[in-house]
Amino acid sequence: MKPIELSFEFFPPKTPDGVEKLRATREQLATLDPKFVSVTFGAGGSTQQGTLDTVVDIQKAGVDAAPHLSCIGSSKESLREILGQYRSHGIRHIVALRGDLPSGMGEVGELRYASELVAFIRQETGDAFHIEVAAYPEYHPQARSPRHDLEAFAQKVKAGANSAITQYFFNADAYFRFVDEARKLGVDIPIVPGIMPITNYSQLMRFSEMCGAEVPRWIAKRLESFGDDRDSIRAFGLDVVTDLCRRLVDAGVPGLHFYTLNTAAASKTICERLSA
Ligand code: FAD
Repeated sequence: MKPIELSFEFFPPKTPDGVEKLRATREQLATLDPKFVSVTFGAGGSTQQGTLDTVVDIQKAGVDAAPHLSCIGSSKESLREILGQYRSHGIRHIVALRGDLPSGMGEVGELRYASELVAFIRQETGDAFHIEVAAYPEYHPQARSPRHDLEAFAQKVKAGANSAITQYFFNADAYFRFVDEARKLGVDIPIVPGIMPITNYSQLMRFSEMCGAEVPRWIAKRLESFGDDRDSIRAFGLDVVTDLCRRLVDAGVPGLHFYTLNTAAASKTICERLSA
């Protein structure tokens, strides 16, 4: 089997302990030789320095690190400044997003959609960055319609995105169908599945509710039935997510992007099982 291109997503830690924990996580995942790792960005710039510091720290370890950048709540001037900072640190890879404003927080900003951010990055920096964008096989929760969401995705690609990472999903068919539909709209960039390892039932249900990812009933029911038995949750989660990844890899996906939540164990075990 051809080796799978892997990438791992982290969030910027807020405490010295968090920084140490992330270093340990990165070291464990580095043994899997990821193509790149990415670091999230809080809407409105709330993690601006943390995102940059984390990316710079990772680059020093010789791993390609891509900061995320969201445009909601930001002015063009502040985005220009951040892009300048990224460039001055030798960063050449970016994940461009609209982001979500916490409820009640501030103005939308000068750019309303990720497609406008991608166009802005291209206008300001030409081909300086490889740009990743988000894709939603089960559709974005605010989308007017599935068709409209697909067209919005195609718009980001037209604006200059080089590749896409999907929201996580547990229905492989939703991903296959989404890719087929996107290809019909002329989208020819790689669309890499985002993978969420399952390690915690209530957290998974909360995240999924927020981001519009469906947890199939049979998975939710089994996880719920384990109660506080974390070992059973982890064991079942590993089986389910490894099976999903195997199906995706067998179908020839261009890579797998893991939402690690800054821990290594589950992502690492899944990748090791896939290559066994
Ligand atoms: P868009 O592509 O702009 O889409 C947002 C909504 O607007 C969709 O419903 C779309 O259908 C609609 N839309 C798009 N264009 C138009 C248009 N022209 N007219 C009308 N409607 C339109 N969030 C963060 O805050 N920080 C992060 O670091 C972060 N990283 C992420 C990484 C990945 C891989 C993914 C999948 C998501 C991430 N998110 C992050 C969450 C993301 O910001 C939210 O899902 C957000 O709600 C949408 O961002 P987007 O870039 O997909 O937006």
